[in-house]
Amino acid sequence: MFTKSIWNAYADTTSFPSLDGDISADVVIIGGGITGISAAHRLSAKIRSVVVIEEMKVGGGTSSHSTGNLYVTIDQGLSHLRSKYNDKTVSKVIKARGEALNAMGENVKRYNIDCDFKRCTWYLYSANQSNDKKIEKEVELAGDIKLGIVGEDVTLPYPVSKIISLPEQAQINPMRYVQGLAKAIHSENCRIYENTRATKIEDRDNDCVVHTPKGKINAKHVIHATHTPKGFMFVQTLLGPYREYGVACKLTERIRYDGIYWGYYDDGEKYSTRVYERDDEQLLLVVGKPHKVGQAEDNQAHIRALEKFAKEHFPVADVIYRWGGQHYRPADLLPFIGRKSKHSNIFIATGLLDRWPCLWHTGRNAHQRYHNRGRKPMDRTV
Ligand SMILES: Cc1cc2nc3c(=O)[nH]c(=O)nc-3n(C[C@H](O)[C@H](O)[C@H](O)COP(=O)(O)OP(=O)(O)OC[C@H]3O[C@@H](n4cnc5c(N)ncnc54)[C@H](O)[C@@H]3O)c2cc1C
Repeated sequence: MFTKSIWNAYADTTSFPSLDGDISADVVIIGGGITGISAAHRLSAKIRSVVVIEEMKVGGGTSSHSTGNLYVTIDQGLSHLRSKYNDKTVSKVIKARGEALNAMGENVKRYNIDCDFKRCTWYLYSANQSNDKKIEKEVELAGDIKLGIVGEDVTLPYPVSKIISLPEQAQINPMRYVQGLAKAIHSENCRIYENTRATKIEDRDNDCVVHTPKGKINAKHVIHATHTPKGFMFVQTLLGPYREYGVACKLTERIRYDGIYWGYYDDGEKYSTRVYERDDEQLLLVVGKPHKVGQAEDNQAHIRALEKFAKEHFPVADVIYRWGGQHYRPADLLPFIGRKSKHSNIFIATGLLDRWPCLWHTGRNAHQRYHNRGRKPMDRTV
């Protein structure tokens, strides 16, 4: 089965050099996905010298395999988050995600990034009565924390039981966003290298050295923005690796389907659907069928199930793109962002499943988190 993500097909191009020789910097960021480029953007506004190294092309990792939805709620449901934290923390998470979502919108405007960013409504529905409870729980919790989730009366191309909505969320072409932001920040004080792999990282008393095939980088600090940190770290024992899949389909006719749609179906299935429009084309995306890595007998069966769902619910003419991507679910549901260990010069940012909007906003000190397992309030350490 040929697989390619829709975002690779609608990507821009980048041509950052590869590193050839020894250099130094205040901070080296390993990984040019949304995490690395967002960190570089923030840091380069504050410090003299930032270097990003990306082993492939900027934005070409998991960031090019997502659905491209930005929302303040979380994928596994706010009630799931509430089962571990109090209302105050849930509100804090939502606030931070909202701030990050707005910051992305501001970047799009400020740097004129051509990435199809648009504000839209997020919808959550139950496909039938047996899933209504999940919707009711979200409404109840939204009421407790005064999040403006309301019952809806919209007509979808397929029947649903209950549906709720939250306005002012957003959608984006994630790869074009990362590429556009990288181009905007690439400068003397923020150097970006593609096709440059970190092969070894030395964490010394007062600095670090990152080795690449054709040169070394000496820096005060290193950030692992590699989705999961390189090498072995204890934090990896708190991350569950999952694969999730997506398909993008051409339709026989244009449909009105603005927004982010998540639907609960029987047997715990949840499907995420949206449309993407560019160059006068409209494509339907269906994302879902996650499983723990290594526990699916046939990965392709998951893609076929998404195709079946798409065909049963929409006027599909053809399935054009199919892909799968990996993400890491943090055991306590929040990302780990911070120092690798107490006195280390190395920082990590991982467990971002839920999801980019929390970048640099909802993460807590990774080292402290490992030792306290979610008991301490969040601090914004990075
Ligand atoms: C199917 C699916 C749907 C999703 N939908 C959404 C969504 O709708 N909204 C949302 O917010 N999130 C979504 N996500 C999650 C989101 O895609 C990830 O959280 C995000 O892309 C992680 O970004 P990252 O920059 O940390 O990792 P990546 O994008 O993977 O970037 C890490 C980079 O590090 C580079 N790298 C690795 N090792 C080295 C090395 N040794 N040297 C140099 N470079 C290296 C890689 O090449 C890569 O480019 C989805 C994920 C999947 C799989």
